[in-house]
Amino acid sequence: MIRGRDFGIDNPGVQVDFPKMLRSGITGSFFALYIPARLSNEEATAYAFAQLEELKRQVAANSDKVAFATDRESMLENASKGLVSIFIGLENGSALLGRRGVLEELYAEGVRYVTLCHSEDNDICDSCTGSGRWGGLSPLGRKLVGEMNELGMVIDVAHTSNDTVRDVLGLSVKPIAYTHGCCSSLCSHKRNLPDDLIRGISSRGGVVCMSIYPCFLSDDYAGFDDDNPDGRAMPELAKVLDHIEHAVAVAGVEGVGFGTDYEGINHTAKGLESIENFGLLVDGLKSRGFSASEIAKMASENLLRVISAQK
Ligand SMILES: [Zn+2]
Repeated sequence: MIRGRDFGIDNPGVQVDFPKMLRSGITGSFFALYIPARLSNEEATAYAFAQLEELKRQVAANSDKVAFATDRESMLENASKGLVSIFIGLENGSALLGRRGVLEELYAEGVRYVTLCHSEDNDICDSCTGSGRWGGLSPLGRKLVGEMNELGMVIDVAHTSNDTVRDVLGLSVKPIAYTHGCCSSLCSHKRNLPDDLIRGISSRGGVVCMSIYPCFLSDDYAGFDDDNPDGRAMPELAKVLDHIEHAVAVAGVEGVGFGTDYEGINHTAKGLESIENFGLLVDGLKSRGFSASEIAKMASENLLRVISAQK
């Protein structure tokens, strides 16, 4: 699984492990089966299933702390037993091999969203950091949208190009998700979403989930994708709150979620270095005037609604 870690023990200095999730008070989180863009074809598929097996092994070995969930009901069932829920996503549709059978197998294993691509264009669509191979969705990608809608798999447009998002919005008959990123109008990073697409996703019942990644939060942190070249202090929590507030202003509170990207990033906004400190984000939102019910919508209910709307 990610970074070869034992998630069952309290690892010092890491962003996420099961003990930290328990202490954080959260009810659940998605774990992404992440497929690097350099992998393709059978190699990408094998990589996805190897990660899935490792995740299953670690969840089974820690059944006193965590359990899998696929929807609101299973999450509440786990919570009633004091267990944190682990939801599964697939980050990069390259692992699907363009085959409906692979999509169906992953759904049967509990995967509930697929991010169409990662940092490069693939057979499905253009990435926001790719070269614009298709001008949006490929013919295979168009077919996949229909298959995912039929099956009830959430389409995730994080990492995709804006043209891909437009194509998906034009084709999908189910609400979609943007699982991790921020707002273009506050930070120009290519991974962020412009207001018209935030509105397009939310107006069709979807959700845009805001990240805590420094280079998505402010243009002052451009180039911090992999490194902190000048050893600078990370952006304040206020920057995360600014993006959430902006997304709510555009999408309404029903259209916004949290998509930290923990363990997919090397740096976070100050104070949010571990999931254990997630309460700081909640406190910050309260200080900006959000009610407990509004925060609950953003923390879980909106994304759970998108999942249940696939049926
Ligand atoms: Zn990602």
